[in-house]
Amino acid sequence: MHPHAISVMLWPQFFSDLTEFVTSAADVDGKHVIVAGLDGDFQRRKFGQLLDLVPMAESVTKLQGTCTCGRPSAFSLRKAANHDQELVGGANLYSPVCRLCYNNYTKAHVANGLP
Ligand SMILES: [Zn+2]
Repeated sequence: MHPHAISVMLWPQFFSDLTEFVTSAADVDGKHVIVAGLDGDFQRRKFGQLLDLVPMAESVTKLQGTCTCGRPSAFSLRKAANHDQELVGGANLYSPVCRLCYNNYTKAHVANGLP
């Protein structure tokens, strides 16, 4: 690989050696590394090692989608009754939501005794 090549990593939350790999590619091999993935899971907990890379990054951009209410979305709402941190799915399992919709949905589920 060319010493100034760009490496792009997608779905970094699933790599257990992410920090080591990216640090080595950038610091040792001189690569420009772009890592794009989820920083948090459906419960807004840290997801994988992506956040561990923030102190080592030159820049960080947090992207947003659009919530069903029209506001910018920053969180993933899981629509399935499953608490495993890793559950791969698309629009059938997840919706991009804003803080207000996330909290409203979570409170309603807790009040009804649902997961
Ligand atoms: Zn919303």
